[in-house]
Amino acid sequence: MAVEMHAGLASEGGSKLKMLLTFVDNLPNGTERGTYYALHLGGTNFRVLRVHLNGQRSSVLEHDVERQPIPEHLMTSTSEELFDFIASSLKEFIAKEGDGSNISTNRRELGFTFSFPVKQMSVSSGILIKWTKGFSVVNMVGRDVAACLQEALARKGLDVHVAALVNDTVGTLALGHYHDPDTVAAIIIGTGTNACYLERIDAIIKCQGLLTASGRMVVNMEWGNFWSSHLPRTSYDIDLDAESPNPNDQGFEKMISGMYLGDIVRRVILRMSMESDMFELISPKLKIPFILRTPLMAAMHEDNSPDLREVARILKEVFEIPEVPMKARKIVVKVCDVVTRRAARLAAAGIVGILKKIGRDGSGGITGGRGRSNTKMRRTVVAIEGGLYSSYSLFSEYLHEALNEILGEEIAKHVIIKVTEDGSGIGTALLAASYSS
Ligand code: ADP
Ligand code: MG
Repeated sequence: MAVEMHAGLASEGGSKLKMLLTFVDNLPNGTERGTYYALHLGGTNFRVLRVHLNGQRSSVLEHDVERQPIPEHLMTSTSEELFDFIASSLKEFIAKEGDGSNISTNRRELGFTFSFPVKQMSVSSGILIKWTKGFSVVNMVGRDVAACLQEALARKGLDVHVAALVNDTVGTLALGHYHDPDTVAAIIIGTGTNACYLERIDAIIKCQGLLTASGRMVVNMEWGNFWSSHLPRTSYDIDLDAESPNPNDQGFEKMISGMYLGDIVRRVILRMSMESDMFELISPKLKIPFILRTPLMAAMHEDNSPDLREVARILKEVFEIPEVPMKARKIVVKVCDVVTRRAARLAAAGIVGILKKIGRDGSGGITGGRGRSNTKMRRTVVAIEGGLYSSYSLFSEYLHEALNEILGEEIAKHVIIKVTEDGSGIGTALLAASYSS
């Protein structure tokens, strides 16, 4: 991971890791004041939110959120339709403030969380590199996403300024940093997975002459696309990738994130049922891709009943396999365990890769080996967010276990993993605050 990060920073296209510049050179520190808005497109739900800041980090951030699924037809419609929908949602949200007469009183500042790969030109502009996650709005690739939104806001007569265009990981880092200035990286492990971190400007070799006051910039790794010949892949991974709409893409994500884990388990169970008499018959449902969602797989994995009742119930409900013998139930739990443990350990290894890249893995840089180094390990916080990590306790347990194992306990105690809540939304509103002036 650390080697690929170097390569991705050295030249455009130098690695499968895009290492995208974000132009975020200053992270929120708690002194921000005022009311700011954020729109989030690219998660399970589309969200609109408002944050009130009073200049004191310690006081609770007040915020209001509205979330709704993006109507399916808009995911493949025209950009005008998609952005008009987004602008209308914001207009309705603002109209509910007070008596509604305040719509045009003063200009509002907004951050746009857009969780797709974007090549940024500035903190508030950037062009879409490609759609992911089922979106395929025509004529959008290559266009400035923030400008599309700004135009739609104008069409709706809203005096709202798009102050920041932000990847969801960057929002998470911003919120993490707002609460704890030792935060240096952010990871999302939900439906997909991605990471960003604070890099030294002189390490971003592909962009010579870049200057920032802080000497740093947040880099969006797009780590879901990480690949390395060192990464051991099974036949299940190879088949899942080959049958996916984006073969050879997002290889790391396909071994880690919530979108895929359930389907890896299904593939293993299918093969077992074909090559053994584990179940009496081969259920045709076992052949249906993505029929086993990760939350149900987690429920089987975490079944604590003595007769593994939940495992049997889910196998029956999802795959229509009746009367699963106890021995087979145990094997299914074991399969879930192996798949999830691998995913969590890969994510942990990725985090250590980032720490290594920025000299926070305790190896003491070029001098001295681990443990023998005299350099004092600094407190290092990694913000983390996403349903897989926060709702699947065995996943997070395995991730922590692997971090301790790789770093060693002495170093690991300086590395703090902190869950942020809705950083992808709130953090973006914070960035709108930092960058609107
Ligand atoms: P998104 O990634 O769409 O922004 P989240 O961060 O909330 O949304 O992650 C949702 C994903 O997390 C789901 O797609 C699912 O894969 C996973 N997930 C949610 N709840 C659980 C659970 N209880 N067990 C395992 N995985 C879960
Ligand atoms: Mg999300």
